[in-house]
Amino acid sequence: MSSKRKITVAYGDGIGPEIMKATLNILEAAGAQLEYDVIEIGEQVYLKGISSGMEPKSFDSLRETKVFLKSPITTPQGGGFKSLNVTTRKSFGLFANVRPCRAFSPFVRTHFPKTDLVIIRENEEDLYAGIEHRQTQEVYQTLKLISEPGSEKIIRYAFEYAKKNGRKKVTCMTKDNIMKLGDGLFHKKFDEIAKEYPEIKNDHKIIDIGTALVADSPEIFDVIVTLNLYGDIISDVAAQVTGSVGLGGSANVGEEVAMFEAIHGSAPDISGMGIANPSGLLNGAIMMLVHIGMPEMAEKIANAWMRTLEDGIHTGDIYQEGLSTKKAGTQEFAQAVIERLGQKPIKMIPVEYDKEDTEPMVIKLKPQIKQKKELIGVDVFIDWDEDKRDFNVIGERLRKANANGLQLQLITNRGVKVFPEGMRETFCTDHWRCRFKTADQGVITHDTVLELLKQIQGLGFDFIKTEHLYTFDGVRGYSLAQGE
Ligand code: NAD
Repeated sequence: MSSKRKITVAYGDGIGPEIMKATLNILEAAGAQLEYDVIEIGEQVYLKGISSGMEPKSFDSLRETKVFLKSPITTPQGGGFKSLNVTTRKSFGLFANVRPCRAFSPFVRTHFPKTDLVIIRENEEDLYAGIEHRQTQEVYQTLKLISEPGSEKIIRYAFEYAKKNGRKKVTCMTKDNIMKLGDGLFHKKFDEIAKEYPEIKNDHKIIDIGTALVADSPEIFDVIVTLNLYGDIISDVAAQVTGSVGLGGSANVGEEVAMFEAIHGSAPDISGMGIANPSGLLNGAIMMLVHIGMPEMAEKIANAWMRTLEDGIHTGDIYQEGLSTKKAGTQEFAQAVIERLGQKPIKMIPVEYDKEDTEPMVIKLKPQIKQKKELIGVDVFIDWDEDKRDFNVIGERLRKANANGLQLQLITNRGVKVFPEGMRETFCTDHWRCRFKTADQGVITHDTVLELLKQIQGLGFDFIKTEHLYTFDGVRGYSLAQGE
């Protein structure tokens, strides 16, 4: 049996094959004991009519090797094609997106030469669940789902990553001043888990000021952990300001499978010209080597690569007149890295990985304690577009609905209370949230909800959805309306 570690490799589209060839040449020259299961992904597969961009047998390859080194692909224009990255992420539960953003100044231009941060983004939940509905003529809804195990998993991953990589601080970013339940859960979990890592500093920033700080002073951050959408945006901001858009690698990590790639796309504008920078994919491959327990190999390649940058051998995208010594093509650049294997950078701080700790990170969740869930009311959403200024009309009519003591407590429009005692100035749409509870806030049954809906229908209203109001061990599981 071969002692080589098998990995799945895809050459991708555009510049993909050129940068993959360069990257694999470097891995081989460094002596990485790898063998490749090459699969086809991207444009050719999409054009065969496979909407995910990846054939079923390729999924089997990933299931076997559990490690995927992937070149960028071209997503065909037009509808019907699914993002290959999203498919892979969701199919294999790749819950963590890890994107290091380090400055390599002055060899790569940046205003922030001291930056060295890592963004760890939750990859499966949040607004990316893709659950959307048009509910009325005027209103569309996108569901934002945040789960407790999903939050716990990514936050534990961030702290374990910090520990394994000698990082000193983890910053959590949310918008929990507004989304007190969903983002609040993420922040609360962060505070709880941070206590288990006293050796690592921690803090929290609201995402808006957090993003501004990443754009303005990225060097103050070490590891950032955040929700899916915020992470998507902030990781591009960070890559841009550190100058790592063309150089950065990224990892998508799950409990079993992990995928490594460059952060840039297939660059069709320079495809086939032999001038693409292979550094992004190479940096993805370096992360892969650490992941599969080859930190020495990762360190050797990372330091040779940095030395190549220091020696001024640059591809066209980072070439600087007066500083670069040679404008290299893709293969020439790879050859320069190969010639420097065994050397370290002199002006920049060399990379050092923990060579003792070669085990993959295992994230264990705490067992959940079952809580008592009680139904104490219901929000009924109604499509109504008669007189949107006269809230009392809808309010007084709905007051007639009264199933087993359930009473109308209030009506809001886009979250603002308009009944009772609304302000005529409030702008309203045709989407009304009507909250029903009993006077004593007692427990109700599903039958009561069904009876209420029947009554509401009988009053001539079009109800479009319900959201149940629960308590968990007596703690309110829903937000209060503005003005409630
Ligand atoms: P891009 O990242 O491919 O290119 C943006 C610009 O950066 C171009 O001018 C390109 O020449 C340059 N560039 C990118 N990588 C480079 C490299 N390694 N060396 C030198 N220059 C480089 O983004 P785009 O043009 O918006 O997208 C092109 C295609 O890539 C699209 O089909 C898009 O869907 C796809 N894409 C794929 C991935 C992926 O597979 N992970 C990611 C992003 C975009």
